[in-house]
Amino acid sequence: MAAILRSVPRVSRGYQCASVPLSARMFRKRADEKCTLADKVAVVTGSTKGIGFAIARRLAQDGAHVVISSRKQQNVDRAVATLKEEGLSVTGTVCHVGKAEDRQHLVTTALEHSGGVDFLVCVAGVNPFVGSTLGASEQIWDKILDVNVKSPALLLSQLLPHMEKRGGSSVVLVSSLVAYIPLPKLGVYNTSKTALLGLCKSLAVELAPKGIRVNCITPGIIRTDFGLGEKEKTMRDLLPDLNKIYGLQRLGEPEDCAGIVSFLCSSDASYINGENITTAGFSPRL
Ligand code: NAP
Repeated sequence: MAAILRSVPRVSRGYQCASVPLSARMFRKRADEKCTLADKVAVVTGSTKGIGFAIARRLAQDGAHVVISSRKQQNVDRAVATLKEEGLSVTGTVCHVGKAEDRQHLVTTALEHSGGVDFLVCVAGVNPFVGSTLGASEQIWDKILDVNVKSPALLLSQLLPHMEKRGGSSVVLVSSLVAYIPLPKLGVYNTSKTALLGLCKSLAVELAPKGIRVNCITPGIIRTDFGLGEKEKTMRDLLPDLNKIYGLQRLGEPEDCAGIVSFLCSSDASYINGENITTAGFSPRL
């Protein structure tokens, strides 16, 4: 399972919309590919590696200016430098999504580009606890719910005035397959990801009159470093090999989550609202 979960970077898609000249061999834009997100500004939380980084890269490849963020300055610097080297339009700032002052700084940074924000993609999520749901301390509950559930709503409330004036704005939340199929010993995390489905539905209804769409993706097991920290090593043993039983006989890659987010942000998805889309190689829903 360790090998299965190891993060393996994949080659980027080999095209881009940004104007900075690059090696034509690596980043030539095909004539039939459109910059679907040109002139748009996207804020992506938890975007210095894994799923968030792949989403940030894809949104930028599709023409958006992307604001990268996560807790650690060195991670932000590395992610921004990598994407700039690819000729993409990105800036970055530190933002621990559970900290109000960091969220405000992220909003300020995003507004520096063109005074507004079109897309918010909430990727940042944590799971600091493996064990029984009822054995989790109040501190654990607070941390998981603060980061995974409350922070997308609080950040969106800070961004809302700057999104509603743009027209065609879109929010994408990143939940998890465990919202539908709870994994043993991850009860608090499972619960937080199920709550995100409800948050998506509520926000979609609430913001529809403002023309802001809110959708959600529910990734299956994606090959990243998530859940492989020192405290969480046992998670490797907890993950059932769902793909072998149900799926496409491979694990997901971060890029498997990126195109669908770009689509949900784009005008091609302009009549899709309050939807949860599973990227897991199979569907847990009817
Ligand atoms: P990852 O590879 O470990 O990346 C996590 C990213 O989030 C890093 O950039 C990290 O950077 C940042 N981050 C962590 N805590 C943060 C916080 N409090 N505030 C802001 N940024 C934070 O993880 P991943 O697998 O891409 O997971 C991303 C999201 O996908 C999570 O919400 C997770 O629940 C969800 N998900 C993952 C899987 C999977 O199998 N991998 C499946 C379903 C859903 P810093 O360390 O610098 O903060």
